[in-house]
Amino acid sequence: MSSQKKVRVRFAPSPTGGLHLGGVRTALFNYLFARHHGGDFILRIEDTDQTRFVPGAEEYINECLAWCGILADESPEKPGAFGPYRQSERKPSYRQFAEQLVKDGYAYYAFDTAEELDAQRQLQPNFRYSHENRLSLRNSLSLSDEQTAELLDAGTPHTIRIKMPEEGTVSFEDMIRGRVTFETKLIDDKVLLKADGMPTYHLAVVVDDRAMEISHIFRGEEWLPSAPVHILLWEYLGWANEMPQWAHLPLILKPDGNGKLSKRDGDRLGFPVYAMNWTDPKTGDLTKGFRELGFLPEAFVNMLGVLGWNDGTEKEIFTIDELIAKFSVDRISKSGAKFDFEKAKWFNHEWIKNMDNATLTPAINSILMENGIINADASLVQNVLLVVKERMTFVSDFWAQSSFFFQAPQQIDVDAVKPKWTAEKTAFFEQIIQEFATVEHWDAPTLEPFFKEKVAASGMKIGELMMPFRIMLVGGKFGPDVFLIAALLGKQEVIKRITKALPLF
Ligand code: GLU
Repeated sequence: MSSQKKVRVRFAPSPTGGLHLGGVRTALFNYLFARHHGGDFILRIEDTDQTRFVPGAEEYINECLAWCGILADESPEKPGAFGPYRQSERKPSYRQFAEQLVKDGYAYYAFDTAEELDAQRQLQPNFRYSHENRLSLRNSLSLSDEQTAELLDAGTPHTIRIKMPEEGTVSFEDMIRGRVTFETKLIDDKVLLKADGMPTYHLAVVVDDRAMEISHIFRGEEWLPSAPVHILLWEYLGWANEMPQWAHLPLILKPDGNGKLSKRDGDRLGFPVYAMNWTDPKTGDLTKGFRELGFLPEAFVNMLGVLGWNDGTEKEIFTIDELIAKFSVDRISKSGAKFDFEKAKWFNHEWIKNMDNATLTPAINSILMENGIINADASLVQNVLLVVKERMTFVSDFWAQSSFFFQAPQQIDVDAVKPKWTAEKTAFFEQIIQEFATVEHWDAPTLEPFFKEKVAASGMKIGELMMPFRIMLVGGKFGPDVFLIAALLGKQEVIKRITKALPLF
């Protein structure tokens, strides 16, 4: 890259279905790099493969990026000066370049029909259209100029293929991996322009990256084998000195580190791989996403930001603005990053724990409504949230963690108390109800010593009475500090719950 070139990066998904978390990470790293360098982040929809087009997939991508706060400066929805941003709408711009490559001897017309190629594949399962066999196939290299001209004049369907050199290597400096070298003889003659006039990904990506003045390309490692084809195209089209810099991001691996994380691994291991719920329009099958499971976008983005990158310290929690400030390519790891769902949940937990109440309140109010709590006292909700936030992994855990604050427990774990119950304990609680009535400052710092003194005076042990007290208030052996619970429930409610539970033991 020439140093004065403005940083312009792109996320270039194909709208073929749900967006894998690896795709969101690619978008994120592009975005972080752009923002860090004051450059532009572009969303380009690569929809030239009409057979793989899935309705709704583009809208889904937009929604995912919006949810994550990864907002494009230019996109189909927000066109800039380099549009259109959907490759299918750029169709007319590609043929001239494919023709130019043919004219300059870097590509050729191939007239083989789909049936002929299928027949070849039947004969040799490893069939590749390459320098090894291209002279025995039906193309402008094997046919005479007259024959080729005749076929073209007759409108014979044809593709245009790159003519990969039989000898030599393509080398480039990957920003993450360093020098990478490929032998061209091992690469097949990729189709550049299809018979329907649409470019393939290989041609479109190069033409568009140049037209859109892309300066750096961050994309998944699965595209590394395509890089030599792209680099040759940049050179063959005469654009070598405008070539962007390349960075192939490490794969996101299965939890055991054995290969790339796929949607199927998520189904098998019971965690999402897509950013948001995706319903296949053909089959109606629903694949669950992180959003619907209860991930906060901040936590999801944070988790992805440190999947294969760190800031050189032990720090793990980053806001998107901190990621922007800290992002640097030399801290992206070369090796694949194992996906750990427990760790992903930890990020969500940390984010919920530290999130201000106001941000969480709308979601909490709808959870309360769903559970039939219509008129919850707003200050109780706020106080409960402060207490249970650190116990939640997902926002949806709120109800399980706190229902007893809003309604008396439906069930009391009598079995946990009964075997060791004594008349002395009944007497203790009967008395403490009376004494609670006299407490003026009904708060946890008052209640704790108060309760403990009464226990000491009774000659019993604190543990023998604390657990039953908790069970009477919440129904079981769970929940935050029992004195905090008692304080938030209020004097009357505490007395009521003890009175109601006592006869059960
Ligand atoms: N359309 C490709 C994809 O779906 C983009 C690859 C690239 O960034 O060059 O991932």
